[in-house]
Amino acid sequence: MDGAALAARIRADLRDEVAELGKIGLATILVGEDPASQIYIRLKHEAAEAAGIRAVDRRLPEQTSQQELDALVEELNDDDSIDGILVQTPLPSHIEEASVMRAIDPVKDVDGLHPFNAGQLYFGSPTLAPATPLGIMRLLEEYRVPVEGAHAVVVGRSLIVGRPMALLLLHENATVTICHSRTQDLAAETAIADILVVAVGQAAVIAPDMVKAGSAVVDVGMNRTEAGLVGDVDPGAGDRAAYLTPVPGGVGPMTIAMLLSNAVRAARFRRRLLAFPGHSV
Ligand code: NDP
Repeated sequence: MDGAALAARIRADLRDEVAELGKIGLATILVGEDPASQIYIRLKHEAAEAAGIRAVDRRLPEQTSQQELDALVEELNDDDSIDGILVQTPLPSHIEEASVMRAIDPVKDVDGLHPFNAGQLYFGSPTLAPATPLGIMRLLEEYRVPVEGAHAVVVGRSLIVGRPMALLLLHENATVTICHSRTQDLAAETAIADILVVAVGQAAVIAPDMVKAGSAVVDVGMNRTEAGLVGDVDPGAGDRAAYLTPVPGGVGPMTIAMLLSNAVRAARFRRRLLAFPGHSV
């Protein structure tokens, strides 16, 4: 499944939408100097600017306190020119991530991590949902992978990928299994998956013989190794699966495209073009 190609099409469509809507502002906050995070922020900014979205890059030093970070979030919440706010994770260990997510105005929460947006997803009425699982649903749709009635196995239960992924698949009537580090027999679970989504962060955690023949396999993992950037799935699984997303060029570009899509969605909510629960339209 070619995520780069689909993402390019989505981004071209978003450019037209942005041109129609007028100025849209997306602010990112990066705390510290994590090299991978710096790359992700740069990619997000380049994509935003290419879509005509104004990207605002706010950076804070590693030793920033929780109060200082909250104050910056508050400033961006109050800034009418900002439609979306993204706080890049991981945050330094002295900062409580959940507390920062709660500080973001839910209507500007383009990562979909505020408990309000997470709750809307839980209820089956997503407002702003995390970009990676949204991108994966778009890929499955694009390649006409049947979700209803399929047995979907999600490996990983993070708030940003695994859990929201499981909920989106459930809403589309898949039968969903969630696996994690305490799952007793991972191979037995994955071997019966019609749709397998792997978000672990460990190269080759899924071997070719753990994949069901004819299935759709989505590799979320991004592992920097001596051989370069690799996913969580051994590429040999592509010989058994009907579909496999490449790394790079699969889920990564889709995540960025759906982040921009969320920024446009947030702008629609803020302009009262779309109803946001609790806001008058
Ligand atoms: P987390 O580290 O937050 O979560 C990893 C999950 O994998 C946890 O739920 C953990 O279980 C589970 N796990 C760990 N080891 C095993 C194992 N041996 N067997 C089964 N499950 C296991 O990671 P993220 O969800 O944030 O990210 C996962 C990967 O996806 C990373 O490589 C990350 O870089 C990549 N990523 C890629 C994106 C993209 O756009 N392509 C976007 C976001 C992430 P437990 O809960 O029990 O600890």
